[in-house]
Amino acid sequence: MSAAAPLWSQRLWAAQERFPVEASEPWGRLERVAEGIWALVSTPLKDQTTLCNGGIVAGRSGTVIIEAFGSDEGARWMAAQARRLTGRLPTHAVITHYHGDHTSGLRGTAETPDIDVLGTDVTIDLSMENRNAATGVLASATELDRVRPTEIDLGDRSVILVPRRGHTASDITAEVPEESVVFCGDLVWNEMFPNYMDAVPSRLSQAVRLMRATSASTYVPGHGPLADAVAIDRYIDLLDDVEAAARRAMDRGISAEQAGDEYRMPAGMTDWHRFQPSYFATAIGSWMEELGDS
Ligand SMILES: [Zn+2]
Repeated sequence: MSAAAPLWSQRLWAAQERFPVEASEPWGRLERVAEGIWALVSTPLKDQTTLCNGGIVAGRSGTVIIEAFGSDEGARWMAAQARRLTGRLPTHAVITHYHGDHTSGLRGTAETPDIDVLGTDVTIDLSMENRNAATGVLASATELDRVRPTEIDLGDRSVILVPRRGHTASDITAEVPEESVVFCGDLVWNEMFPNYMDAVPSRLSQAVRLMRATSASTYVPGHGPLADAVAIDRYIDLLDDVEAAARRAMDRGISAEQAGDEYRMPAGMTDWHRFQPSYFATAIGSWMEELGDS
């Protein structure tokens, strides 16, 4: 999503009472999804300190923070939460993709001594191009393999960083298979319509299906409340519905803008948020571009 000129709706997501809430602030709440694993569900309609979702995974020999969040203050707050909850400072920070709402807090992230910041080469390069990029932090970041998964060994458990793409040219998911938890980055949005600004739509649909095939019990979306398998199935239905709308628009010879104006979300999803009204047209246009090229 873009932080610029959002047209927020006033509705806020309620905690689903599925997991205990260990911290609650205007910008989000930290839910304990498993022993040593916490997910941040940001509430950007209220406060944009953290802006995106993310999390903390703690093991015997280290702690991973997922995402660098929307501001230095947000990233600092997450590091402080990691210390409070685990008794130690975080050792690793993973950036799932380059968008500013996930990377603008990199300087705050890097204030933790000796923290290892990890991202793919594409993510690091694209992040450098952002206005106000934390170039010093990015220059010393560890490059993740863009083809093979990377394991962060935390002693008694591992976090598997899986390279994927679709939301952007390079996305990472952070997975803890034995606890059945997947941190999805922006490949998954829940109760919010996804941003297709940089998407490769067919790859996005494929990536989400592959994540669904892991049969995880908890998916931490990039934005919106925590998702289970049922919520992922609903999200896949939405992605398919957007594709179908793009195909119809091409058959009728209408523009993405007109198709976006006419688009209605599938039944049961009409209360989903859009960060910007243009998101329907962006999504349909993204599909039309890809389908037109093939
Ligand atoms: Zn994004």
